[in-house]
Amino acid sequence: MKILVLNAGSSSLKYRFFDGMKAVAEGVVEHIGETRGPKDHAEALETAEKSLAKSGALDSFEELDGAGHRVVHGGERFVEPVVIDDEVVKAIHALIPLAPLHNPANLVGIETMRRKVPKLPQVAVFDTAFHQTMKKEAYLYAIPIEFYEKEGVRRYGFHGTSHFYVAKEAAKILGEDMDKTNLITLHLGNGASACAIENGKSVDTSMGFTPLQGLVMGTRSGDVDPEIPLWMAKKGLDADLILNKKSGLKGLCGENDMRLIEKRALCGDEAARDALNVFIHRIRHYVGAYYALLGRVDAIVFTGGIGENSALVRRLVCRSLENLGIAIDAQKNIDNECNIASSKASVPVFVIATNEELEIARQTKTVLEAHLSSSGVKSFKANNFKGEQYGNQSGS
Ligand code: AMP
Repeated sequence: MKILVLNAGSSSLKYRFFDGMKAVAEGVVEHIGETRGPKDHAEALETAEKSLAKSGALDSFEELDGAGHRVVHGGERFVEPVVIDDEVVKAIHALIPLAPLHNPANLVGIETMRRKVPKLPQVAVFDTAFHQTMKKEAYLYAIPIEFYEKEGVRRYGFHGTSHFYVAKEAAKILGEDMDKTNLITLHLGNGASACAIENGKSVDTSMGFTPLQGLVMGTRSGDVDPEIPLWMAKKGLDADLILNKKSGLKGLCGENDMRLIEKRALCGDEAARDALNVFIHRIRHYVGAYYALLGRVDAIVFTGGIGENSALVRRLVCRSLENLGIAIDAQKNIDNECNIASSKASVPVFVIATNEELEIARQTKTVLEAHLSSSGVKSFKANNFKGEQYGNQSGS
């Protein structure tokens, strides 16, 4: 199957082309809508198509078997990936109040692609879907229940595609079925979240109603006393801007690139040291909480730009946890080995590179194959839809 994975942001379009689940070509079109970039997402898609043709990957989008879109918020409605039709588009639209920054951009990507290649089947893969297995005690906030019932205010969690991908990889390495595996997965990048996985299912995660909650991130505060934004607002400050864009590592030391923070901290820079320590302290908080929640942990997984590359962060997160069966081998950690646990420790500690695009491609393939077999046809390309717009098909 030839699948194009698309991740549309408000001013950027990332794409990766898979042929038989092998990534063949990729790119990113930036500055959409700005004077120096393409005027809109339609033009950005033209650019992507031309660039794929130039690379020899495929001549045009007409050759594709499907497209998979990353969609940030699926609310409670989407617990798994779905074939996109008009009704799905409407439902993603209805979720905009829950993800005002992300869902509109994801929708523009979907709608532009549907207009450009009307017969191409397309699949939406949701960042929130993996966490829909959380129980009420994990997803309800202790605020008046009407906020949940009427407006959907609850923990949703994000980064689901990444947590799911690395969890499956970890189960594979352990030689266990995913549905018998308990894990703590730590996605540490510019955005960061932790996830507790019990028998292959997400039972808790650190991001919440929005991707602002939980761990300390590049520019996001993560957990704060809920009075703090109220206090800021009373002072006439833009709490939303401060907590999302001016906080986290950047707020603490003026920098959100972990490589530079590490260098500064190692040279004795106090602000960088504090930022690193707050970042680590919060992660350890969640590791401890999730260990208690799970009771048995088969492995801890580090992923994301920081988790995959920072031996220092991994060492600090795992220090003095021998009583929990967690200890890492200094050399294996520095060498970025797959399992960095020391031979004396009982809990493996994995470093696994995440691959959200591959996971989206896989899920797109699975959904399309199921859809094909249920509609009793062999290929979408064989004009099974009699020239109708794919979006007008029913039954998806
Ligand atoms: P991501 O959002 O997953 O791309 O991760 C971005 C973060 O990974 C940034 O804070 C980078 O500084 C960090 N990062 C990338 N490479 C390294 C490295 N070798 N050591 C420490 N941090 C790194």
